[in-house]
Amino acid sequence: MQETRSTCPYCGVGCGVIISSDGQQITAVRGDPAHPANQGKLCTKGSSLHLTAAPALARQSRLLQPMQRLQRGAAPEARSWDTALDSLANQLLQIHANHGPDALGFYLSGQLLTEDYYVFNKLVKGLLGTNNLDTNSRLCMSSAVAGYKATLGADAPPACYEDIDLAGCLFISGSNMAWAHPILFRRVEEAKARHPERKIIVVDPRRTETAELADLHLALQPGTDVMLCHGLLHIMLAQGWADPAFIDAHTSGFAQLHAIVREATPERVAQVCGLALADLYLAAQWLAWGGADAPGTNSERLPTLSLYCQGLNQSSSGTANNAALINLHLATGQIGKPGAGPLSLTGQPNAMGGREVGGLSNLLSAHRDMANPQHRAEVAQMWGVDTVPALPGKSALEMFEAAADGQIKALWIACTNPAQSMPEQAMVRRALERAELVVVQEAFAQTETTAYADWLLPATTWGEKLGTVTNSERRISRVRAAVAAPGQARHDWQIGVQLAQRLERHLRPGRPSLFTYDTVQAERGCEAIWVEHRDSTRGRDLDITGLSWALLEAQGPQQWPLPSGASQGRQRLYSDGRFATDDGRARFDAQAWKPVAVPRDAHYPFSLNTSRLRDQWHGMSRTGQLGRLFAQASEPSLQAHPQDMQQLQLQDGDLVQLRSRYGSLVLPVQADAGLQPAQLNLPMHWGSMHLSGSTVDGQRLTGVNALTTPERCPRSKQPELKHVAVQLEKA
Ligand code: SF4
Repeated sequence: MQETRSTCPYCGVGCGVIISSDGQQITAVRGDPAHPANQGKLCTKGSSLHLTAAPALARQSRLLQPMQRLQRGAAPEARSWDTALDSLANQLLQIHANHGPDALGFYLSGQLLTEDYYVFNKLVKGLLGTNNLDTNSRLCMSSAVAGYKATLGADAPPACYEDIDLAGCLFISGSNMAWAHPILFRRVEEAKARHPERKIIVVDPRRTETAELADLHLALQPGTDVMLCHGLLHIMLAQGWADPAFIDAHTSGFAQLHAIVREATPERVAQVCGLALADLYLAAQWLAWGGADAPGTNSERLPTLSLYCQGLNQSSSGTANNAALINLHLATGQIGKPGAGPLSLTGQPNAMGGREVGGLSNLLSAHRDMANPQHRAEVAQMWGVDTVPALPGKSALEMFEAAADGQIKALWIACTNPAQSMPEQAMVRRALERAELVVVQEAFAQTETTAYADWLLPATTWGEKLGTVTNSERRISRVRAAVAAPGQARHDWQIGVQLAQRLERHLRPGRPSLFTYDTVQAERGCEAIWVEHRDSTRGRDLDITGLSWALLEAQGPQQWPLPSGASQGRQRLYSDGRFATDDGRARFDAQAWKPVAVPRDAHYPFSLNTSRLRDQWHGMSRTGQLGRLFAQASEPSLQAHPQDMQQLQLQDGDLVQLRSRYGSLVLPVQADAGLQPAQLNLPMHWGSMHLSGSTVDGQRLTGVNALTTPERCPRSKQPELKHVAVQLEKA
């Protein structure tokens, strides 16, 4: 038996795993006691990983060879890799020549490894000359990115997991981390059990399992987070609970924010958010003073840590939500010290690593900005290309909208399932039908998106892949292969390199290759990509020039930054009071509250929220194969308040029709007293394999995204997946 240390491929906690295998087959998995993220623990999803890798399941579910669909709707036919890559390179070059590079769009995934991302970023922005590369992180973390950059100057979560053990107050907002980040929540529970006097505030419209642990649950109305934060700051300032010395010494822009916050009186905030005045005062006090029962002097201030996720991010005010929360930390000096600071919980396992290499349409390598001419010149020089294009790339939804309009002719989709996971499904499906070329690079054969592919390219997945990932606390871990790739599956970066080598023969004839990574000796080739990424971070906020794969091997996962000469990574950022802005001062972000994009009205009188289950992951390509992971929820069901069920004469299990302005679904309903009246909740995991919806514009819509809105945050371009107004009636 062989043991291999690797990382769980699901959520952004980034737990270490030890995989047992017999050389051919993965036989068991357990938590890695040496990994700082989980110290040996695994949740139900992580501890079932070996079962999802069973050969019998793999034979049913995996894509094992390149396939071509000669006609849309026809069965795909097997091809060799050389045929597939030669043909695809020719088709891309033809579209490039006829319509220009911006007729190409690449849509990747927060589940790719850092090296996969790096290669595709270089291929698309460096070689093909378009910035049309975005990822499903746009649906997940782009508001957190924009919020950090607007306030702290860099996309860098300043706190770490150890701060959970040290915080006097935990402010958990827009996150049911008991289900979405279970192992980190265990740490919250353990800290609370050791120190019952410490305070937990949970901000969530729904009484979730996370809220059950709270000393104070603020069940606010959906989309009122900015108003809540402004109201809390109003109270802190009025009560003398802010930290004026910190504001003076380390921040800018306070006067503009103060002018907005002045209007957020406790009475107005209580009315807009639907909260009790006394709860607002208590929350403001605990947040400012780290859970202390009586406010004291500045030196007696205990630390407050905020943990937050999609409830803030997936909003038409996503950036403002993030920034308003960070404003509270800046106004009270609750940042840069043990137990204090904002810490966004990453949804996907490697959304952080993707951002590090510039894996969004507005980013470049090592947290550089595509809009910055100096950054473009630096990256062009590193890659050995003449220029990196200046024209803004399209974000995720924009890319599909451009394909639906006929501007984008080719869509290359890797490791993600937009025909299930994107809002405005009718538009997404129009885009997939209208594009001249749809390539899906995937481990799994049957997803909603594979049905639209002209070409299917088999990719490796967990247990077979190698590279690195970065978790929510900036910790870089190795991902290692325990078994060989099945069938003809290749690593995502290998596919990118082999495509790039074909393209550059035409795009850069006679010039040296930009993609010399060894695709035969995969460990060597992958490390060479990582080294190139590492070198690109020199002098940047995420500088890891002191890190190597040998050091990761010898000392285990490390946090960034870890610059040359440092003996270990930095646990916390901004401890010296200097931020990543030009003048070293953090910036208060002054944005007035705006209501949700599609509010309730007389025709659509219910608010629909979407959520994760504990035991399923995203669109269920992997977790949906295991019976045991359906024990928590065996079928899709809508949750509604008992009072609404009674009014509509509904019983548990009755079929209901749910209709928004975008589409409709029929599914069973269950009562949930944790909701407020007029609010509904629907888990996001089920797609067309399990749930069918209405037909709009000739497109059969499926899953929760038959209903969700494409309205998005104007700054982060992240869609408002967490709220849409709907009608509810008995089916
Ligand atoms: Fe995997 Fe997240 Fe569970 Fe850890 S908490 S085992 S990373 S799904």
